[in-house]
Amino acid sequence: MRLLTLAGVWALSITCTWANPQCYVEGYPDLIASADDNTLILKDGTRFPYRTDGDKTSWENKINHADLATQVAQSYRAKQTPPPYLFDPGRLRYQPFFQALYGKDQPSVEQNLVMIEWPTLKGSIKLPVTKIAGVDKKLYRIGQEIAALPKKERIWAEGATTYAYRVIKDTDRLSMHSFGIAIDLAPTKTQYWKDEATAETDRIGYHNTMPLSIVRIFEKHGFIWGGRWYHYDTMHFEYRPELLAPSCSVSAE
Ligand SMILES: [Zn+2]
Repeated sequence: MRLLTLAGVWALSITCTWANPQCYVEGYPDLIASADDNTLILKDGTRFPYRTDGDKTSWENKINHADLATQVAQSYRAKQTPPPYLFDPGRLRYQPFFQALYGKDQPSVEQNLVMIEWPTLKGSIKLPVTKIAGVDKKLYRIGQEIAALPKKERIWAEGATTYAYRVIKDTDRLSMHSFGIAIDLAPTKTQYWKDEATAETDRIGYHNTMPLSIVRIFEKHGFIWGGRWYHYDTMHFEYRPELLAPSCSVSAE
């Protein structure tokens, strides 16, 4: 009976958090003035439709024409391993939103970049990261917390890279690395879905070696992990606080 009740509450939470505009207001309190089911308004006055026209039933259309509602429609906190077929919370993105927050083109993005110190086993390296929304300070803290982990876990934070203005492999969509809000770790030891598939809708397995101790540190500071996606990218973390906001959270785990 108790189990049934808990399951009921969980299902209800999923329903209530479905594409909730409040996720944005809570995730970016310094940048977003308001959001409802029609419009999202930034503090600088920029307005976006919450939903855009066009068919989004096929996966192809969902990923190529995601809108703000699509972006938070899959609950990141409803985490399951391995992720179910086409469960990619945070991977469907509305690019104009990120361009408005972090820079409309390469020169604009680069104006907001600062260097942070990232601890390594031999000392530290400097990494370019945006200062918008305090992403630089958050990533610095993440590095400090990872540095306190045992060495067998810390080795997974070696080989870090952040900013690169580029499109996602085989697409014309900008990578989140283009905005200075993403970081890749241990590039030669991690797993990427394209190593075993070519098409988005292919049936693939799930592979991961990134320690969850590192993942949890990132999530605590508003970064999501590509290892929670069906299209796994286990080296990849990006700042997406809308997906970790209380209104988007099913469980605190
Ligand atoms: Zn990446």
